[in-house]
Amino acid sequence: PAQPSTASWRRVSVAVDAPQHSGLTGPLDYLGPQDLAPGTLVQVGLGRRDTLGIVWDDPPSGEAAGDALPEDQLRPVGAALDALPPLSASWRRLLDFAAAYYQRSVGELALAVLPPQLRELDAAQLQARLKKLDKAEAAAARAADQAPPERPALTEQQSAALAAVQALAAQASPPPALLWGLTGSGKTEIYLRAAEDALAQGRQVLVLVPEINLTPQLEARFAARFAGHSIVSLHSGLTPAQRLRHWLSAHLGRAQLVLGTRLAVFASLPRLGLLVVDEEHDPSYKQQDGARYSARDLAVYRGHLERIPVLLGSATPSLETWQHALAGRYRRIDLTERIGGGELPTVRLFDMNRLERKKGVTTALSVPLLDALRKRLARGEQSLVFLNRRGYAPVLHCDQCNWKSDCPHCSAHQVFHREDRTLRCHHCGVSQRVPRACPSCGNPDIAPLGRGTERLEEQLAEALPGARIARIDADTTRLKGSLEAQLGAVHDGEVDVLVGTQMVAKGHDFRRITLVAAVNPDGALFSNDFRAPERLFSLLMQVGGRAGRDAAQASRSELWVQTWYPDHALFQALQKHDYEAFAGSQLAERMSAGLPPFAHLALVRAEGRTVEAAREFLEAAQAQAQELPLAMGLLIYPPVPMAVARVANVERFQMLIEAGHRGQLQRFLRDWLPTLHGLRKRHKGVLRWAVDIDPLVI
Ligand code: ADP
Ligand code: ZN
Ligand code: ZN
Repeated sequence: PAQPSTASWRRVSVAVDAPQHSGLTGPLDYLGPQDLAPGTLVQVGLGRRDTLGIVWDDPPSGEAAGDALPEDQLRPVGAALDALPPLSASWRRLLDFAAAYYQRSVGELALAVLPPQLRELDAAQLQARLKKLDKAEAAAARAADQAPPERPALTEQQSAALAAVQALAAQASPPPALLWGLTGSGKTEIYLRAAEDALAQGRQVLVLVPEINLTPQLEARFAARFAGHSIVSLHSGLTPAQRLRHWLSAHLGRAQLVLGTRLAVFASLPRLGLLVVDEEHDPSYKQQDGARYSARDLAVYRGHLERIPVLLGSATPSLETWQHALAGRYRRIDLTERIGGGELPTVRLFDMNRLERKKGVTTALSVPLLDALRKRLARGEQSLVFLNRRGYAPVLHCDQCNWKSDCPHCSAHQVFHREDRTLRCHHCGVSQRVPRACPSCGNPDIAPLGRGTERLEEQLAEALPGARIARIDADTTRLKGSLEAQLGAVHDGEVDVLVGTQMVAKGHDFRRITLVAAVNPDGALFSNDFRAPERLFSLLMQVGGRAGRDAAQASRSELWVQTWYPDHALFQALQKHDYEAFAGSQLAERMSAGLPPFAHLALVRAEGRTVEAAREFLEAAQAQAQELPLAMGLLIYPPVPMAVARVANVERFQMLIEAGHRGQLQRFLRDWLPTLHGLRKRHKGVLRWAVDIDPLVI
């Protein structure tokens, strides 16, 4: 395009989507008009392509001047999408922080969190979209005056909690708050009231939830309470057009409430006044590829940047958050009673050592549990049986030659799915028909070992003739809309016994369930992953919270746990619904083992064509690390294979780095990681490597 008067143009920084490993970490220099405001979206040339960039802030004068290109070699920026107000300074600071903390290039991250469609539009197309949005909003604002919505009078505890939130909101720089309360203790009502306050002051509210399938329920509650207000959702289940529309509505300051999953933490909200993170302990707040950010942690940082209250809600807070609260860095607000006096389920620990054995084979379901299920059936109540493993059986086995259904491409078994008679690998997805006989010795009697939800469903059907049994897991909910349909059937009372994985544990408000059973939760007690007990405890508390939500039935609701270790501290604390005791014992263990929250971790993972390639790369990386002065005082562990070491014929290794202080770890990584880009070039067998800061799964 013609460049009429670039003579007066100046050097501008533009964040572009150049990945970290290209060696470009900061924004790039271009020439642009004098008045080009930071935060403006502009078209720029990058290599041979045209791409969208974001005008970034000028570097502090004098910095990086050394290797900067002279101005006559800079490329001019192209058209600006100036129909859009610039992204705010606090949004840019959030992105600067997130990119630095999670060791990504700021442009890569900033562009990745914009709606994909925004990157494809030219200025004219964007104008057209904005016009359409204006029209749609003009039609909706004309909505008739609403009668004020009905809202319950707060309980005494809720009033105190709300007052505490309001006191925080009045502070110039409020600390984050942990809203600690059981399922059904009225946390959501506090979010609603706090949101009401923020909206009344003309501010926007951002509410984060862990999973897409939880947004409709919460959305419905917010929609009912804030009828006449503009509410949008942001999550990966939206079409690209919806996502752009919702994002624009937030960015233009029109959406008053934004509900979303982790990516929504990056929403552009010019008047943000309150940030809520529901179920703050939920692992799905951590992004598991690319920039592995924690939306919960970024929400806390964003609150600090924008000087607004952040409400972290949970019945079983993450131990990180709990420790912050204990140390007084987060304000703790407690809700200890269930609304309407609903009681918590009685927890029954069934000792599997007492389980009668039939012909040497243990059955999945103890007689007392079956009796309890039958009682529910007779009374027309519902039960939920929980097993965190899908498929029929985790492995097929030949007892003649000891053949097992191993995946040819992974260090894992192929799972037996009876419904479609396949063996499927849950890691690489490879699937094959079940062999008629042992592929190794020809024995026709190959048998399933262990139990998944399919088999549990079958065993329940045998034991409870006439019962209407349904199963919800990743296999039964593959089709869009099927989860909603199946949940609907449970709500409508068309199901007596629901079998499911952790999918059913979260958020669903099942009113008629009076019995929840976890039939085989022991694996987590002895996992290599130090967070496994924490996840199990919160899952069981959460799954137990499904029972007894209807106060009329609460007195007879029960949570059954079948375990070989009924004396384990975790189950003992669970029996008393004593999160505090559980957290205390876990924190003591973590402290003595030097684990988070008392230490800070980073995990470097490498994938190679061979074991040697992956391991040698990390060993070389380790050697480079040990040369660095900043490595002093850090623990750098030797590389080890990942828990599932081979997936789809790729060998996976990891190396853990542990530091006493966050800043120490950050400074070291900033020094060390850039050297790995060069190192990688000398290790041809390495397919990729990545760093995970504050990893959730080890
Ligand atoms: P949580 O978010 O802690 O699970 P909720 O806010 O969803 O708790 O409250 C549980 C149930 O009690 C919901 O059905 C809610 O509508 C209702 N509820 C909440 N607060 C009150 C109140 N003060 N009076 C009556 N009902 C309430
Ligand atoms: Zn065999
Ligand atoms: Zn596989």
